[in-house]
Amino acid sequence: MVAGNLKMHGSHTQIETLLEAIRQEAQALSSVDIVVLPSFVYLQQTQNILSNPIVEWGAQNLYLGISEAFTGEESGAMLVDFGCQYVLVGHSESRHVFNEDLALVAAKFKAAIDAKLQPILCLGETLEERKQGETKKIISQQLESVIQAAEIKAFRHAVIAYEPIWAIDAGSTATPEEAQDVHAIIRKWLGQYDSAIANTMRILYGGRVEADNAADLFRMADIDGVLVGGEWLEAKSFLAICQAAC
Ligand code: PEP
Repeated sequence: MVAGNLKMHGSHTQIETLLEAIRQEAQALSSVDIVVLPSFVYLQQTQNILSNPIVEWGAQNLYLGISEAFTGEESGAMLVDFGCQYVLVGHSESRHVFNEDLALVAAKFKAAIDAKLQPILCLGETLEERKQGETKKIISQQLESVIQAAEIKAFRHAVIAYEPIWAIDAGSTATPEEAQDVHAIIRKWLGQYDSAIANTMRILYGGRVEADNAADLFRMADIDGVLVGGEWLEAKSFLAICQAAC
């Protein structure tokens, strides 16, 4: 899987150019599950352009409940209304810029499952935590809180993205080996609960993935795809990453 997180980027014109280019190339990339995650305001446009979904799409966040007095928020049901199949949950920018804590991320994961969306659950440690040797502890806490809210069987309908915070939108990226080590920890952790879920779970890596490092990441045993941020502003770079996955 190659998923593109457009963050708070884009305009009507840019989205059209990007998605048209991706749509045209997608047929030749049918061995890759391509998912695009534009801002909420471009979901209608995304649905129109990708109406025959070789490429799937989703949103970057959701809130709890179905129809509530939560000004400025979007429910899972609303995302489904726009043809979304996926939603990011617990992205490091949501956790660290908007202070989403473990309980809220877990509740959002459950809200996504309840709405029949596939959450792409983002996990990751800060540089400080990595230096302190706490990566495994942090990842386990992030997973544990979700299992408490949603139960292990919910993971059957989820995707996990390991996104070390020190590599998001940053100058450095994890080496394939560093990413593989954490992916293996995640799979092993899931395996204590359910080996079938652990074996089939798609675990993506995110954090400065580019066409140049994508192929090496895809070669690792537990890396099943990538979550791309900045790179997919350019359709050409995003498609080069998809090509590396074939
Ligand atoms: C992201 O924000 O999910 C991400 C992977 O960003 P970048 O590729 O820009 O590091």
